[in-house]
Amino acid sequence: MIYYPEKYRIEDRRMKPFIDPDEIWGYLKNVKADKTRVREIIKASLDKKRLSLEETAVLLNASDHDLIEEIKEGARALKEKVYGERIVLFAPLYVGDLCTNNCQYCGFRSSNKGVQRMTLSENELIAETTALIDQGHKRLILVYGEHPKYSPEFIAETVRIVYGVRHKNGEIRRVNINAAPFDIPGFRTIKDAGIGTFQIFQETYHEPTYMNVHLGGVKRNFEWRLTALDRAQEAGIDDVGIGSLFGLYDWRFEVMGLVRHVNHFEAVYNVGPHTISFPRIQNALALNIMKDHMVRDEEFVRLVSILRLAVPYTGMILTAREPAHIRDQILRFGVSQIDGGTNLELGGYSRGRQETQDLSREQFQINDSRSLSEIMDELIRNGYIPSFCTACYRLGRTGEHFMEFSVPGFIKRYCTPNALLTLAEYLEDYASEDTKKAGYDLIEVKIRELKKGQKTDKLREKIGKVRSGERDLYF
Ligand code: SAM
Ligand code: SF4
Repeated sequence: MIYYPEKYRIEDRRMKPFIDPDEIWGYLKNVKADKTRVREIIKASLDKKRLSLEETAVLLNASDHDLIEEIKEGARALKEKVYGERIVLFAPLYVGDLCTNNCQYCGFRSSNKGVQRMTLSENELIAETTALIDQGHKRLILVYGEHPKYSPEFIAETVRIVYGVRHKNGEIRRVNINAAPFDIPGFRTIKDAGIGTFQIFQETYHEPTYMNVHLGGVKRNFEWRLTALDRAQEAGIDDVGIGSLFGLYDWRFEVMGLVRHVNHFEAVYNVGPHTISFPRIQNALALNIMKDHMVRDEEFVRLVSILRLAVPYTGMILTAREPAHIRDQILRFGVSQIDGGTNLELGGYSRGRQETQDLSREQFQINDSRSLSEIMDELIRNGYIPSFCTACYRLGRTGEHFMEFSVPGFIKRYCTPNALLTLAEYLEDYASEDTKKAGYDLIEVKIRELKKGQKTDKLREKIGKVRSGERDLYF
């Protein structure tokens, strides 16, 4: 693979591979993590500067216990400074598990004969969406295997179906996608259906490992996948989500790969990714990978903290793959979005939760089976503001995280009030009496915390309107 380093003209770097393993290993092997340097870097990050590859490598090389604690503390402080206490909630909705790829970590892979294959019909998709709206969800990510049936037109149609569902007071207001890479016209077709973020995880940025675990299908083409979200951006999709599947290769290399991906987008498209995901490999039907690179809990907390510091303005997603205690812990270090009430089984939301997962019908095992209402209640009682806000996306304010980060006062003027308004909607329509009381107490505390002049009168007025039955109010 030819690598197009940063010194190349931007025109020459569009849709071209950007990962140079020698460059990454050069930093990881050579930079030293002395105390002064680590502290300088944390400070730069707290001043909201995106870190370079070299600076990220310094943090990754810190091994002293106290220094690691300082890094975690830095991430916690940054999270508080940039995002406040808001946590955005969403749910994944699996549309179909047909797949022509052969990814050794995935239950849906083509060689897995024990999988029950299905694609939701229009009525089933409507039933799933209705069940999710009934939980209180407003934001979904639709997930698909890679298969000729799941063409851009098919995906666009499923997005339109989901947006079309109205149920009691609710509807889905933002549909994100996790699906295979397409060409530019394909991405354009999907964009036209009004999607939010298009997520594609590189899985591993280490090409030899990539070739070892992707044994067949289009996904075996490392470069096609690496450049996928460039094509999405060429097609006009501004919000893209990157990710790496931790456990395939050295976690420090993958963090560097993610940061290099961010640098690439910033250089070529002038905006970083909307979100970063960092799934750890979970059990799946006939999982077939070496376990040499599994990431321990303590390393996982470190990697999330370092990513937070390295890319201060990017949303970070932590899913129900992780058990509740890890999710609760990691929320503090920089996560801004989590899923709730997750059910990976095709058709599972309308069937209702089963006692145990049936891995022949699901992509992998999840470890947090809390319902959305349990998670909402816990977030509220821990002082977080659960948010279903979709205002920026719907007002065309794409690149919203960048605004939060770069426009002074944006969070207080828009994000927090909008989060509180969506919380009030949830409390009115879906919460138990106990949660409702705790939720309105929290809203009162948070309104008082907003300084004068931050539209608190208008906010109180809008919350009053929500209480008397109006919906979908935002700034
Ligand atoms: N088929 C699309 C693709 O491969 O891009 C959709 C992706 S898949 C449904 C969503 C993500 O789940 C994958 O990109 C991968 O990172 C992750 N995944 C797959 N198997 C997993 C496992 N056993 N444990 C945890 N995450 C897994
Ligand atoms: Fe198919 Fe995606 Fe699973 Fe790979 S990760 S087998 S592409 S569903």
